[in-house]
Amino acid sequence: MAKHRKSDPIPEDCPCGLPAPYDECCGRLHRGEVQAKTAEQLMRSRFSAFAVQDEAYLLRSWDPQTRPADVGFDPGMRWETLDVIGSTGGGPFHTEGTVEFRAHYRAHGQPGSLHENSRFRRHDGAWVYLDGDIG
Ligand SMILES: [Zn+2]
Repeated sequence: MAKHRKSDPIPEDCPCGLPAPYDECCGRLHRGEVQAKTAEQLMRSRFSAFAVQDEAYLLRSWDPQTRPADVGFDPGMRWETLDVIGSTGGGPFHTEGTVEFRAHYRAHGQPGSLHENSRFRRHDGAWVYLDGDIG
């Protein structure tokens, strides 16, 4: 699952919104070359993983307490852009953090957005996604 099929839309610009090519940005986290240093970096990489449908990365960056059995991508759903609104904690010396964001998508051709305040914590030293409040 870590490898992308040829038909997958691997974008040149990273979906997470940072001004870098996907390969040198979230792609490095998805391939396991580097770990997220902050909760915000993990959050951005998880958004990108939804955009490129990297299920393996989403599952391994999910807290084991709340991790689902699978992600179940909706084939009609495309995650397009991300706005990070704010964050608390989540730095190199923190063990918990929150990231508030708005994620923009296209569902069966219709644009929409999701506003969430996500909670992250460290698990075995690595940032993982715990849960979030949507609204
Ligand atoms: Zn990125």
